[in-house]
Amino acid sequence: MAERMLKFVTAPKAMPEKRAAEVRRHGFREIYEEFAREKAAEQAARCSQCGVPFCQIHCPLQNNIPDWLKLTAEGRLEEAYELASATNNMPEICGRICPQDRLCEGNCVIEKGFESVTIGTVERFITENAWEQGWVRPPKPRRERPESVGIVGAGPAGMAAAEQLRRKGYQVHVYDRYDRIGGLLIYGIPSFKLEKSVVERRGKLLADGGITFHLNFEVGRDATLGDLRARHDAMLIATGVYAARDLMVPGVGLGNVHPALDYLIASNRKGLGDAVPAFEDGTLNAAGKHVVVIGGGDTAMDCVRTAVRQGAKSVKCLYRRDRANMPGSLREVKHAEEEGGEFVWLAAPEALLGDGEVRAVRAVRMHLGLPDATGRQAPEPVEGSHFTVDADMVVKALGFDPEDLPTLFGCPELALTRWGTVKADLRTGMTNLEGVFAAGDIVRGASLVVWAIRDGRDVAESIDRYIRGKGENAMALAS
Ligand SMILES: Cc1cc2nc3c(=O)[nH]c(=O)nc-3n(C[C@H](O)[C@H](O)[C@H](O)COP(=O)(O)OP(=O)(O)OC[C@H]3O[C@@H](n4cnc5c(N)ncnc54)[C@H](O)[C@@H]3O)c2cc1C
Ligand code: SF4
Repeated sequence: MAERMLKFVTAPKAMPEKRAAEVRRHGFREIYEEFAREKAAEQAARCSQCGVPFCQIHCPLQNNIPDWLKLTAEGRLEEAYELASATNNMPEICGRICPQDRLCEGNCVIEKGFESVTIGTVERFITENAWEQGWVRPPKPRRERPESVGIVGAGPAGMAAAEQLRRKGYQVHVYDRYDRIGGLLIYGIPSFKLEKSVVERRGKLLADGGITFHLNFEVGRDATLGDLRARHDAMLIATGVYAARDLMVPGVGLGNVHPALDYLIASNRKGLGDAVPAFEDGTLNAAGKHVVVIGGGDTAMDCVRTAVRQGAKSVKCLYRRDRANMPGSLREVKHAEEEGGEFVWLAAPEALLGDGEVRAVRAVRMHLGLPDATGRQAPEPVEGSHFTVDADMVVKALGFDPEDLPTLFGCPELALTRWGTVKADLRTGMTNLEGVFAAGDIVRGASLVVWAIRDGRDVAESIDRYIRGKGENAMALAS
């Protein structure tokens, strides 16, 4: 082992080639190229096989990172893929969009002085290579089971659960109100972070494995939760969180003020080749406009970078805390700045100004005061520090809350937490309704893809135990 590994002393950290910001600004392709095989092996060999793999401990999926790095360094790529996919239903997606700087790579023990192993890009390389070689196969159970499971939501939580349940032989039906599979992977996250063909390929694999997708099917409109419970032996709610938090300032009702997801969905649909009237008539197109994005998370960053690519005259992001205290990934801030987005830190909007249409944002400078109950420093306005920013378009990216599912689903008895998320047993994922489980953002609140996959996998185990338990009880009663 020692011969091949421990190369962090001699081989510096390297990422795949990143296209120049000037080129990136004009298109929606992913910004990194693929690693060549030798480069992936070299970078994997930087791992010291440290014996205390904090990378693995800090991965929500507990991916066996040290072992697949070693196999990659040795050129044993099929085994590396088998290992990477044993704990993750979409390693090529996590390799692209996980905030590795906060998870595996941020905790790699060789980081100090030598910089971490580039785990995400090696993970992406292993899985892309597996797709090319035909090693990624649809879920095919050894034996079919008669029981069926209904899943509401074809995002990463629903997709992961569907695949795991199908592998066990269940008849799996996934219902989604969108016309495509992927949830936020397809319509939220822009293609410069995750190209849509990568998501479509995964969706097709699940359908090829016998999972039935009912698209354009909105639970609440096309069926109640009760109707679906009557059709299936168990149900999973994996609907994500979609109620956009609003800006509470005067002028928010002016024209050209848009919720972030409307803006991103329009852009993603356009990229997928759909007709998008609100984009074509200019409403949701930033071309030639002064754009102000309000918020400091990943969604805000995605809006900034989308507006740059659409040819905005200027793009400013207003955030009330500073760079160190923003929730979004610092890696993404760097990309956005390189591409020409401007961050106005410690600034909060006070009013949107205009006459029918928005023309400017009046903002105030903030400073960070004492920590609040959550431990974060509370931003406070600096008196007399008002300023105005030109804006022909404002995008509100202030985060998401859960929708009112009991009302929407025609199921008032579904229990919620005080945050409006679905209340699910921490151990089993079951809600207060017998045989109805929940997973992903709708339980956790807005989170990460990797957590949605983890939750989907865990809840699939619980659903399997639940259905088998029901069968055993029925047999015991009959005997
Ligand atoms: C703009 C943006 C960028 C992001 N970037 C990143 C990133 O870079 N990295 C990262 O790890 N995470 C990122 N996230 C977060 C990540 O996308 C989510 O945490 C993850 O998608 C949650 O998965 P989920 O399956 O729980 O829900 P979702 O992905 O939201 O999927 C839920 C699905 O349920 C469907 N649905 C909802 N209600 C109904 C209904 N009544 N009937 C039928 N179907 C319904 C929806 O149509 C959707 O397809 C980002 C989020 C956003 C908004
Ligand atoms: S923490 Fe770093 S050095 Fe240790 S096993 Fe993980 S990648 Fe290798």
